[in-house]
Amino acid sequence: MNQPDCIFCKVVSGQIPSVKIFENEHVLAFLDIGPVSDGHTLVIPKAHCSRLDDVEPQAMLEIAKVLPKLAATVQKAMNASAYNVLCNNGAAAGQVVEHLHFHIIPRNADDDVFNHWPAYQYPENKATEIAEKIKQNLNL
Ligand code: 5GP
Ligand code: ZN
Repeated sequence: MNQPDCIFCKVVSGQIPSVKIFENEHVLAFLDIGPVSDGHTLVIPKAHCSRLDDVEPQAMLEIAKVLPKLAATVQKAMNASAYNVLCNNGAAAGQVVEHLHFHIIPRNADDDVFNHWPAYQYPENKATEIAEKIKQNLNL
């Protein structure tokens, strides 16, 4: 449940102090120590898991119960007009802390928090090929 070397497990246990905004039996929400906008919040399951694909369904359900309201509340309290919910999974995706967490990032127009979305177009047939590859790997 608790991983001795995990920073966020230490936040959960209180070994590392945090500025909490919400807590129940299963979920903790606290301010990010390195915010990209005021109110930048992290929402975590209290039980350790490293990423989205190894969270217990019940723990994910507990997050799902509170994340939408937390996000809306953080946005409103910060007088922001929008928010991002981000979940980085794996180092290449920017995950630094290997305890599942959801960032709630309040946003405003022209705030320059993320201003580059490197979108491109698939060449003909590529989208169908990619979808096939994914579906062949699906085991739901
Ligand atoms: P990641 O890059 O793994 O998605 O995000 C990890 C986040 O955790 C970063 O935004 C970082 O600022 C935050 N963080 C790392 N250590 C601590 C800590 O000890 N306390 C708090 N409140 N946030 C932390
Ligand atoms: Zn942990």
